[in-house]
Amino acid sequence: MAGSIIIIGAGMGGLAAGIYGRMNGFETKIFEAHSLPGGQCCSWKREGFTFDGCIHHLFGCAPGSRIYDLWRELGAMPREMVKTVECTSIASPDGRLFRDYYDLEKLESHLKDLAPGDAAAIDAYIRGCRAFVGNDLLGDVMLGTTAERTKALVSMAVRLTWMMPSMEKFGKRFKDPFLRRAFPLLVYSAPSVPLFIHLVRHGYGVNGLIQWPVGGALRFALSIEKRYKALGGEIAYNSKVERILVENGRAVGVKLADGSEHRADIVISDADGRKTIMEMLEGRFVDDKVRKACAEPPDTTAWSVHVYLGVKRDLAAEPSALIMLLDDPVEIAGHRCESLEMQIFGFDKTMAPAGKGVIKAELFSDYSFWKRLAGDRAGYEAEKAKAADRTIDVLERHFPGLRAQVETVDVPTQLTWERYMGGTHGFANMPTKKVSIWSGLKGVGGDMTLPGLDRFYFVGVWASMAGSLFGNALSGRLAIQALCKRLKLPFKVE
Ligand SMILES: Cc1cc2nc3c(=O)[nH]c(=O)nc-3n(C[C@H](O)[C@H](O)[C@H](O)COP(=O)(O)OP(=O)(O)OC[C@H]3O[C@@H](n4cnc5c(N)ncnc54)[C@H](O)[C@@H]3O)c2cc1C
Repeated sequence: MAGSIIIIGAGMGGLAAGIYGRMNGFETKIFEAHSLPGGQCCSWKREGFTFDGCIHHLFGCAPGSRIYDLWRELGAMPREMVKTVECTSIASPDGRLFRDYYDLEKLESHLKDLAPGDAAAIDAYIRGCRAFVGNDLLGDVMLGTTAERTKALVSMAVRLTWMMPSMEKFGKRFKDPFLRRAFPLLVYSAPSVPLFIHLVRHGYGVNGLIQWPVGGALRFALSIEKRYKALGGEIAYNSKVERILVENGRAVGVKLADGSEHRADIVISDADGRKTIMEMLEGRFVDDKVRKACAEPPDTTAWSVHVYLGVKRDLAAEPSALIMLLDDPVEIAGHRCESLEMQIFGFDKTMAPAGKGVIKAELFSDYSFWKRLAGDRAGYEAEKAKAADRTIDVLERHFPGLRAQVETVDVPTQLTWERYMGGTHGFANMPTKKVSIWSGLKGVGGDMTLPGLDRFYFVGVWASMAGSLFGNALSGRLAIQALCKRLKLPFKVE
């Protein structure tokens, strides 16, 4: 045995650290506070409907991508997948529909039908899409050898003209008022996102490397847990870690909420960074940089409150994702909504009983809006019901008759995520700092270690600063690589 590792949390980073730890001869035990693996990669059942908390775009879904190889090592691929035809879709209040197809010829003629006067901007967009097709940029940069990484970065630099403008700025190239308003919202309704992020994502879709894992996020996480267990890894559920035990500047184990203590040579945390540092380590091993990283995250997080509807309506022919532009803004959950983004799960038959479907509307909402209701159960439930009611009102404009077809409603808020995952402000678990592009591309935009604490590593969002499943799975691999290097052991992959 190379040594023993205790891992806090069975999210993507924790499970991956366990798997690569086992591959490299470590004894591993994961302590997970919840009763299931996956963390943010979650889904749950309500009256026969499956509500997915996570996946919009899963990268690395077909051979030919290094991200696929990562998933294969982790036991998540191959698996049954569905290819959706578009990245997302946008509906105007007057019934026009822009579908951002992955088929670029179809996309071009669709856009030119929608806005014949915008041929120049459409040609530019299609050219931009083509510039990111036929490669595995993210996989090469994040998982390639130094030579492959350098080559990928050079080929990215060639695409430099597409990297700079924001979605908002690019949208201004369109004269058609609908497309001018629609384009800035294409990346999860966030106009400030650089255009190249969208083009990279779109390119992965064109290459067939973004698909949907049938059954959703929990099933995806369970396949990784299965691989971990098959390698001999141990996992204890309903086991919340309260303290990390430290002796002589070295992490030596953990103390659980039930009072039991468990010891190991190395401790890895996939839990929220702020809570790991300020609670589990009681604020020790902190310098100025770490203190700043632990500062309060922003109040608003994009689509941090979800309204799930299980409906008696066949949604198979609907787009997989839709943003409705509203002509008269509506206030929902304390925010003025000029558009409403949603996922429509008609493409996966396993998500709902036959002839029925699931819609997940994603709302912008402030943490403080919900936190003020934390001690007021009735008030909290009333706000959730109000948010659902207003969302259904808005959806009725695009799906007439929907209200009468609603069978089940569920509204998780930031407080739900916080309770479920032990995070800060729901799932806003990133350190408060700017990600350096270079370290971000290497998979560690955050920090894997703490000053003055030996034999301790972070994995997951705190280490990666990546809001992606593969980025956080990669963080588990990188932590074990770093550990092997420190112990002068070769890093092995089975
Ligand atoms: C709404 C939403 C949509 C997303 N969409 C996508 C997408 O389309 N594509 C994509 O690639 N990514 C997506 N992501 C991002 C992705 O899901 C996350 O980045 C990733 O799952 C985070 O992994 P992690 O390793 O940081 O662990 P987390 O998921 O944060 O898991 C941490 C685990 O630690 C456990 N834990 C916490 N505290 C303790 C404790 N004290 N003791 C024991 N256990 C503890 C928690 O219960 C949890 O299981 C989305 C995320 C969200 C929230």
